[in-house]
Amino acid sequence: MASVTPVALPEKFGNFDLVKRVKLDFTDVQVSKWQSRVTGLSVVHLDYEAPIVNGYFVVGTEIFDDSGCPHTLEHLVFMGSEKYPYKGIIDHLANRGFSNGTNAWTDNDHTAYTVSTAGEQGFLQIIVPYIDHILYPTLTKAGFVTEVHHIDPKGQDSGVVYSEMQGRENTSGDLMALRLQRLLDPPGSAYRSETGGLMEALRVLTIEQIRKYHSTYYVPHNLSLIVTGKLSSGTSTLLSVLQEKVEPNLIAHGQNLGPRPTGWKRPFVETASAIRPPIKETVKDLVEFPENDESVGELIITFLGPAPNEFLERKALEIIGTYLTSSPVAPLNKEYIEIDTPLCTYIYFSEDTRATALYMAIYVGSIPTEHIDKFDTQLKASLQRVVTEGIDMERMAMVINRDERQLRSKLESAKGDTFSGTIINDFLYGAEDGSELEASMDEMNQYAAVRKWTSKQWTDLLQKYYIDPHSVVVRGKPSASLAAKLESDEKARVAAQVERLGPEGLKKAETELEEAKAEHDKPIPTEILLDFAVPSVKSIAFIPVQSLQEPGTGRAPAARVPDSEALSEYIESDGSSLPFFVQYDHVESDFVSVHALFSLTKLPHRLRPLISTYLSAFFALPVVRQSGERLTHEDVVNKLDNETVSYDVGLGVGGLFAETFRISIKVETAHYETAIAWLRDLMYGAVFDKERLQVTIAKIQQSLPEMKRDGNTVLGSLWADLLHSDASTSRAGGILPQIDFMPKLATQLSEKPEQVIADLEEIRRYAADPSGVRFSVTGNVLKLNKPRSTWAKYFATALPEKTLSPVPLSSQTLSELGEKPVNKAVVMSLPTIESSFVTYSTKGIKGFNHPEYPAFRIALEVLNATESYLWRYIRGSGLAYGAYVSLDVESGLLSFSLYRSSNSMSAYKEASNVLKGLVDGSISLDTTTLDAAKSTVVYGVAKNVSTAGRAALVSFTNQALRGVPQTHQVDLLEQYQVVTKEDVLGIFKKYFLPLFDASSSVAIVVTAPAKQDEIADGLASSGFSVEKRTLEIDPEELAEHDHDCDSCESGSEFDSDSESDDRS
Ligand SMILES: [Zn+2]
Repeated sequence: MASVTPVALPEKFGNFDLVKRVKLDFTDVQVSKWQSRVTGLSVVHLDYEAPIVNGYFVVGTEIFDDSGCPHTLEHLVFMGSEKYPYKGIIDHLANRGFSNGTNAWTDNDHTAYTVSTAGEQGFLQIIVPYIDHILYPTLTKAGFVTEVHHIDPKGQDSGVVYSEMQGRENTSGDLMALRLQRLLDPPGSAYRSETGGLMEALRVLTIEQIRKYHSTYYVPHNLSLIVTGKLSSGTSTLLSVLQEKVEPNLIAHGQNLGPRPTGWKRPFVETASAIRPPIKETVKDLVEFPENDESVGELIITFLGPAPNEFLERKALEIIGTYLTSSPVAPLNKEYIEIDTPLCTYIYFSEDTRATALYMAIYVGSIPTEHIDKFDTQLKASLQRVVTEGIDMERMAMVINRDERQLRSKLESAKGDTFSGTIINDFLYGAEDGSELEASMDEMNQYAAVRKWTSKQWTDLLQKYYIDPHSVVVRGKPSASLAAKLESDEKARVAAQVERLGPEGLKKAETELEEAKAEHDKPIPTEILLDFAVPSVKSIAFIPVQSLQEPGTGRAPAARVPDSEALSEYIESDGSSLPFFVQYDHVESDFVSVHALFSLTKLPHRLRPLISTYLSAFFALPVVRQSGERLTHEDVVNKLDNETVSYDVGLGVGGLFAETFRISIKVETAHYETAIAWLRDLMYGAVFDKERLQVTIAKIQQSLPEMKRDGNTVLGSLWADLLHSDASTSRAGGILPQIDFMPKLATQLSEKPEQVIADLEEIRRYAADPSGVRFSVTGNVLKLNKPRSTWAKYFATALPEKTLSPVPLSSQTLSELGEKPVNKAVVMSLPTIESSFVTYSTKGIKGFNHPEYPAFRIALEVLNATESYLWRYIRGSGLAYGAYVSLDVESGLLSFSLYRSSNSMSAYKEASNVLKGLVDGSISLDTTTLDAAKSTVVYGVAKNVSTAGRAALVSFTNQALRGVPQTHQVDLLEQYQVVTKEDVLGIFKKYFLPLFDASSSVAIVVTAPAKQDEIADGLASSGFSVEKRTLEIDPEELAEHDHDCDSCESGSEFDSDSESDDRS
């Protein structure tokens, strides 16, 4: 189906030769791949219309040990370069050009550096210094000390990378993944390595090792620049920047050795890592991970897959995985999960690209410990049975169609970015002449091909990859004694280290750290920054949204949105006005989403903990349709999968308005009525069937232990517990209340099921009260048949005319402490973590149109921006992996949070000192910092409305929920531009100083047991009244419960409205 366009554009541009051009017929994305014949630098441009330009600078990073060179290097690249020898300057430059800073990741086989900008100007500017950083970083000893590893004055190991790996190394995920690599990959293969760096190795790593590694792999012929988005003169705009400003510098460094210098071996493909013999016999191994609750464990079963360029076979394997596990009625879910006592909470098929053969891993989570040993044998028997019984071809057709619809939907919103992963793999593993590029992207053709497959072809595939061959099985078991051992070992190790270093050694380490910090504090000359022009806000093309709100008969009409006449006429020509609230937001699209929001304000508090169970069961209950037709839960799941692109239920939108119950259904425009009919039937027609509830509750209970292991999840729940009241639905759904609630619910369901069912009926009655219902239609409204009267057809009887109550807000559900956050500190110990997760909160500003908001938003950005104050003083000193301030205007709370902190009290003091310094003038706030903050806010606003779906959704949430004009955030852009330094300092003084004062703030901490006392003492000496808690649960009690957060924090498009000022 795909075809190469005739060569109309030049095949040469300066040093660059066109390697391949691809035009796929199912999308307007044009792809061209180029390579410099002089330096070997390769470039791929995915060209399409969009307000955001994304760049991925990818280096193939192969390493044969656990030193962590690829990962440490990733961090060090941001510490300055030959032409720009200042720590963090790259982010300052990016921030000026309408970006939110740079980012990067290190995978098993590559390191990718990324940047996104609103509009092209900032992007074209940043390329040159970014490549200078990647190819010619300073790699100083000082950078190593703060960013990678050092010993702090107390004798503890610290540093940004070290802290990050400390937070990861002993988690079940990392422990199991590493063991798997060791078992699966033969000696000599780089795939065995921990590319992040093991703590033990990081403690002895040197900057010289990293420099050597850099000189081998960070070379132009091993670097690919992937750009997605629109440039004014197409790809030649990009190539001319590279030709004129990048190539000369590479050549000056003697890197004009062509695409294949003598002796160069392509990483992975031409090294020992490519040697991949079949797995000779099945290996089963056990990994223990630290966890006091020993009730459930995990499992990974890995098989060898096809070669990376067997694209059709890969697609088919992906589809068979979906067929087996994608919904409650999928064969494996039915057998293992959707039962009274689940054998696990998820089964997930994945693939990892490797040079010779893919790794096909099956991940299984929350398996009751007593079932772990037999699980893989049982699973194999199940797969064998699927082969014997054959494939349900009707379900298979549904799975393929749905997958294809979802890809089309993703293509519409993400465009060329959809292919970034594919292009990275092509760079690492694909044919160098670009001959595999087209086939790798041609997914629609792959769908067409597998649609013709027979049941036999599918079962042969299963047999070939998952039944006949040997595998590597890694079982992960929780161990309370290991948790205790790790803790005491670490204490002993640090004590020995202190002993070994002695006061002098510690002093020396401290001096070294101080000197390193001083070196980084070297100010960036303002001229370099000013050289980078700040683009004009007007240069960004925002997506227009036509909008019409009909609040319902007898209710005050909303202000009309300009340029929406076509939409108004179209809606008003269909039937008569409705008694209830519907807002229509039109954009160009092949899809439409309908959303229903129900207020939970009137719900009795005792019912709130039950909401998460209701959410989890929501799409998997039997339903009586409006027609009277009765559907089993399996019918419901099958039909929904067959008729929709996606469906989702949750609390609120994008982290806001959590006191509303939301249902969203996305369909192709032709199926608009189907979507509305489902909204009605799912809400009013669901049958609270005892068996189904039992399954849901069992599943939730089983996933609790895994959630409880996560420091951030526990912190969120503890925070909500203290700052919100019984009136808060989201608080009731947190992990801590659910641990208590779920066992009781399970007992109640078995003893008095009618009571649980009555409670759920009661929830529905309250939620469906006509005074609190709002509907939204976002997508191609002008293409819809009967856009308005279809609502009447399904909801007229259920929703008679009634006064509309206000949108419920989280500010109405604060506890006494939330209303007045002063003095209190709670420090909870959690045995599964080694670092700390912390949030401090105080009063901020409240409301969606507060006059101080523009200055506040800039103030937040000034502190949060990558390489700005918090980053430099906290992350840069290795005190925490993340540190940020956030403002929740819905509840009116301002917070300071630390993520994976190795020393949370020092981090707190640093933040406090920064704020005091800024306010008293001893730390200066430069114009360039202010410019960068403003520019980053522009990026945030543009990104938030960068796709048609997002733009339509923001139009709805603004008018219907926030009570502000349709384009509120874009309208504010001009106000941000006039915010002054004094405005920002005023906000710091008025709101941020109280955040760092115990008499006007609260502190919530979740930390490793070993750190609890120290942190509690630190907080007490800062003036907090401290309470210590321990998260411990009787394992037997725990064996029976849960809460499924998938429903509360789903990743749907409806949740992607991120204008909540909460950046992490
Ligand atoms: Zn990292």
